[in-house]
Amino acid sequence: MLIYPNFYCDNVREVKYEFLKENNIKGIILDVDNTLIDYYRKFEDGTLEWVDNLKKQGLKFCIVSNSNNLNKVKYVADTLNIPFLTFAKKPFKTGFLEAQKIMGLKRENIAAIGDQIMTDVIGANRCKMFSILVKPIAEKDIWVTKVKRPIENKIISSYLKKVKKEKV
Ligand SMILES: [Mg+2]
Repeated sequence: MLIYPNFYCDNVREVKYEFLKENNIKGIILDVDNTLIDYYRKFEDGTLEWVDNLKKQGLKFCIVSNSNNLNKVKYVADTLNIPFLTFAKKPFKTGFLEAQKIMGLKRENIAAIGDQIMTDVIGANRCKMFSILVKPIAEKDIWVTKVKRPIENKIISSYLKKVKKEKV
């Protein structure tokens, strides 16, 4: 299903190298707002180390953000020392495919991590990339996200029910 992620977890740091390896992931597309930083541009503890460790294991990264705040996205990308795309218009495919080109990988070897189903998950799924949904860092969010959250929460709970059923 287009609206369901391939994997759902609390935060980016829960995405472990072994898990990525098992799923043949060689590159990661990262969302910025509420995935990497909060409303005040603050990274959660351990996020920089998470990126560094995966880089050492050979993983490639690219930021794909819908934000038009070049300053903010560049700050995040420079801090992590990875390439970035802004104003990406997710869930449209363009940003994902451009990131794929930058990383020089096949789509089946790319995971996209984000906190929103409507943009991050659907976009990744449309590109047939491995979609990973994380819980948003901060709930203090721009109004567009606020409007979308109730719908997202409904989808997440039906997704969790489905996963639970499959495990039985
Ligand atoms: Mg986000």
